[in-house]
Formats: sequence, C-alpha cells, structure tokens
Amino acid sequence: MTAPLLQMGLRVEHDIFVVRQRGREVAAAVGLEHQDQVRVATALSEVARDLLRAVGGADVTFSAVADAVDGVHHLRIDLAPVGRLPGGRYEPQSGAVARLVDTLDVVAREGDTVVRMSRRVPVAAAALTPERLAELRTALAVSAPGSALDELAAQNEQLIAALDEVRTQRDELAVLNEELAETNRGVMALYNQLTEELEETNRGVVALYGELDEKSAQLRAASESKSRFLANVSHELRAPVTAIIGLARLLADSASDPLTAEQARQVGLIRSSAADLLGLVNELLDLAKAESGRIEPDWAEVDLRPIFGQLRGTLRALATRPGVELVVEEPPAPATLRSDAVLLAQVLRNLLHNGLKFTERGEVRLRARRADDRWLLQVSDTGPGIAPELHDRIFEEFYQVPGVTRVGGTGLGLPYARRLVVLLGGTLQVTSTPGAGSTFTVSLPVGGV
Ligand code: ADP
Repeated sequence: MTAPLLQMGLRVEHDIFVVRQRGREVAAAVGLEHQDQVRVATALSEVARDLLRAVGGADVTFSAVADAVDGVHHLRIDLAPVGRLPGGRYEPQSGAVARLVDTLDVVAREGDTVVRMSRRVPVAAAALTPERLAELRTALAVSAPGSALDELAAQNEQLIAALDEVRTQRDELAVLNEELAETNRGVMALYNQLTEELEETNRGVVALYGELDEKSAQLRAASESKSRFLANVSHELRAPVTAIIGLARLLADSASDPLTAEQARQVGLIRSSAADLLGLVNELLDLAKAESGRIEPDWAEVDLRPIFGQLRGTLRALATRPGVELVVEEPPAPATLRSDAVLLAQVLRNLLHNGLKFTERGEVRLRARRADDRWLLQVSDTGPGIAPELHDRIFEEFYQVPGVTRVGGTGLGLPYARRLVVLLGGTLQVTSTPGAGSTFTVSLPVGGV
C-alpha cells in the first residue's frame, strides 16, 4: 500500500475546520485545480460533520494512488469511523456531496469499514513520482494547521469567488437566452413570410386553374360552334351547287339547243367550278360530321386484301403521269383486323390521292406490315417531301404548303383522314425528307377500339 501523505484525527467540532483546511492543502499539493480543491474540501467537511454526529469521529487518511490500468493518479481520502456506522452504511446528509468528487463509497479496508472519496489528478499536473510524494509528505507534516478563523476567512473568499463565477455564468446565460430569443424571432418571421408566400402562390395557382378551365370551356364552345357552322353552311350550299352542275350539264347536252363554241367553253367552266365547289362542300361536311362525333364506325372483321385490290383498280385511273408508277403491294396473310372497311378505304384513298397529286417522278406505294398487335399501313412517295417544321401544320384545316405547285385541293384531306384514323382507334403520322419524298403511316390496333 502507498504510504499516506497525511493522517489526522476528527474528534471535536473544531476538527471539521482543520480537516477541511488540510484537505484543501493536500488537494493543492497533489496538483488539483483551484475549483477542484474547493470541491474536495467542501465534500470532506460535509462527510466529516456527518461522521462526527453519527459515530463521534473518524481517522482521516490522505493518499495519492495511481490507477492500476492507466496509471493516472487520484487523491484518495479515507475516513475510518471511530464507532460502527449504523447498519454498516453511510449516506451523506446532502445528496449534492457525491457530485463534488469522482467517487464516494463505503469500502472495507483491513477488516474495517471506511468512507472513501477520490478525485482524479489532472494529467497536466506535475508528475507524482515517489520522490515528489516523499517531499509532499514532509512538507505537509511540518505545515501547521491554521486557526478556525483562518479557515473561515478562506471559506469566505472561496464563497465570494464561487458567487462571482455564478454571476458571470448567469450573465452569460442571459446573453445566450437573448440571442436564442432573437434567433427564434428571426425563424418565426421567416416562417411567417414563407407561409404567406406559399399561400399567395397557392391563390395564384388556383386562380390560374380557374382561368384555364374557363379558357378551355370557351375553346370547346368555339370549336363546337365552328363545326355547327360548317355543317349548316355546307349543307345549305350543297343543294344549289348540285343544281348548278345539273343545269350546266343540261345546257351542254346535245339534246338542248346548240351552243356557240364560246358558250360551250363558258358552260364547261361553270361546270368544273361548280364541281370543285361541290367537292369542297362535301369535304367540309365530312369533316364537320367527324368533328362533331356524328360518324360512328361500323365495326366488323375487315380483310385488307379486297380493300387494297379495290384501291389498286380505282386509283389507277388517277395515275396518269407517265413517269409515276402506282404500286399497291399484296398484304401479308392473314390480313384481317377489326375496323370499318369504308372509313379505312377512305383514309387510304385520300393518302394515295395526295401522293399521286404531288409526285412528278418515281412511284407511289401502299404496303401493309404487322407489328405486334397493330397493322401499319404505309403510303410512301418520291414526291417533293415536306419540311419537318410543317409536319404538324399539314394536319390543320385549310393548310397547304406554300410554294408547292398548285394542283388543286382544299387543305381538308389530311385533317379529315386523321380524324377518321383516331375514330378507328389508331394514329396517322408523317415522316418526310424534303426533296426525297414522304411516308404517311396509319397505325391501327388489330382488335379495334
Ligand atoms: P390538299 O391535298 O387538299 O391540299 P391535304 O390536307 O390533303 O389538302 O394536304 C395538305 C397539304 O399537305 C397539301 O396542300 C400539301 O401541301 C401537303 N401534302 C400532303 N400530302 C403530300 C405529299 N404526299 N407530298 C407532299 N406534300 C403533301
């Protein structure tokens, strides 16, 4: 066992002061910091008072011991009670005492029960070598304990220092609290601002949606009235135009009074203009019907081969340019799908007709190809092609590519064809390279809609 640094007895009230004072001296001697010295001295005087009252005193031993594991020194103070502790246990009167030191226990020492407290010596303190400990022992042995008055004065000083420190800490706490409150106010202000901005944005979005709804309702109404207007006007025009054609035919008939050559030419002009007009009126009527949903596909199992055969026959008459060949390929068997044969033939005729109209050299070809559960019907030509930026526009009503040689037409064929294909549950797309030709692809589901 390490030789103790100091030993002393605790027997009377006055000894409590001495034990306290010496405790602080030993704590200072082994290198505890000022605050720790006060803590140890305070804990020691509390325990000393308890033991004096409970068992009439104790023998107090101060020693410095090195930890077996890390070698760090601890100041250890053993208080061996002069009488038996009640129940062999010790509880400090004040619960705060145990917090002033690292350990405060009742331990068995050489058959006796002692109250032991310890406090770690900081690493920064001067090393406690055996020589140093011997020096300390000698110094402590000669230093005489001061009077109770001295100790009271020392305690007062320590109390003032502790109060000072408490005040500083309280001031620091107040500053911190103020800063915290300030930050809180800032955060709340930011939060409120953000909430307000969010609400503002929300209101804007809601208003925008309202406006959008209103605009789309207006658009729908406009589109409906346009279709109604087209249907009515074209319907009203059809009868007089048909009458004009009939009358012109009558005038030119050989059974009628003979016409002069000039008159015959003019009647011919009237007839062809009226026929153009009738074509336009009919197309307008078709488009209006398709747009207003008045065309109902007549769904049936459709075979592509007879449709292709019919197109080959009827369109050959239109392929009158010597340098242009019309090729209608035989569809791969079985070439069936659920669709409306009349509407489908109308779409393909329209596309082939366009191809023949715009192609001056090469060929116009119709072919069918199966791709999974769809049929792809392609009309390709070696005509002038269409610039990429116009690929959407040619599907708009009345749009005709400017600059292309005027070959007649109304600009209604493609929008109508696309309407029909959509009714049949498919899509109509164009790919084209200006100068190299165009390909229009009708993609239809095998099973219909
Ligand atoms: P139309 O043929 O009666 O003018 P469409 O709606 O069928 O009307 O076609 C719109 C326009 O698209 C045409 O005027 C033409 O400029 C262009 N177009 C259509 N098909 C072809 C094609 N095969 N090759 C080149 N241009 C085409």
